[in-house]
Amino acid sequence: MTDTRYLVHGVFWPATPAARPVLRLQASDGTFREAALDGGIRLGFRLAAEGKSCLGHHLVHGPARRDHVLCAGRSPADRGNQCGRCFVADDFRLMHDFHRGGRVPPGLRSYLMQPHWLYVATFANGVSKVGTAADLRKWQRLAEQGAVAASYVARAADGRVVRVLEDLVTRDGGLPQQVRSAAKAAALAAPASAGRLTAHNAALAATARRVISASGEDGFEVVDEGWNRPALAERLCSATARHSYPHALDSGQHGFTIRSVCGSFVLAALDDAGLEFVVDLGRLKGRTIELGTYSSEVPAVQEALF
Ligand SMILES: [Zn+2]
Repeated sequence: MTDTRYLVHGVFWPATPAARPVLRLQASDGTFREAALDGGIRLGFRLAAEGKSCLGHHLVHGPARRDHVLCAGRSPADRGNQCGRCFVADDFRLMHDFHRGGRVPPGLRSYLMQPHWLYVATFANGVSKVGTAADLRKWQRLAEQGAVAASYVARAADGRVVRVLEDLVTRDGGLPQQVRSAAKAAALAAPASAGRLTAHNAALAATARRVISASGEDGFEVVDEGWNRPALAERLCSATARHSYPHALDSGQHGFTIRSVCGSFVLAALDDAGLEFVVDLGRLKGRTIELGTYSSEVPAVQEALF
């Protein structure tokens, strides 16, 4: 009998806007399959194990080359999405201190020495952040984050310079470097108009450009370039009626038809109800699921909602 249980590694967006995101799944024999996330696709699953498992670690060999090493013991995840051993072995762990003089292995150094982009991203309620993307992940990085509007503000010679600029924009422009996924999901349940978010993002990006232009730093050029939101995110980022998904994704069975995808968030239509809900599939990361013809319980809240 085939084991249909999978360890979820998360939602992955491709490098080009033309392709579709996928839910990446690890089978018990260590092979991977990808469940396509697209408008009209039905996704059904049940949670098949308690708790979260380690997703392994990465060894970085260069700008486009890395190995994903699976967790040898399929250990419980107790450091975010990793076990203690994989957390320590992960090259990317060292990335964040590189610009403060931290030592990195040669492969990660070569990854970090590629050109990087500095961007300002705005989420569905106007909350915004500054961030960085390696050249090869320029578009994808913002798609993964679930940005509604975003602008590139600088192209830096390498990953050290870009992180210096990022810290400056936080210090002098007041933009944080993290927005929690729970806040993004809540915002998508009642999004502001995309037009207003685009204007807000443009104003914040202009401030960021002023901050870095006045910084006296070398090794970058200021750019004024927009980011194109994927067409698949259109409905989730518009002001159609929707609600927060009322069930936690740590147990039970779930199933719905996908209408739109933004980052790890999907706009999901539950059977027969005609209602749409914002589901954060990122919550499945590290969980073990079984795919099948499962359905979400339709919440008995319709009267309250209208
Ligand atoms: Zn591990």
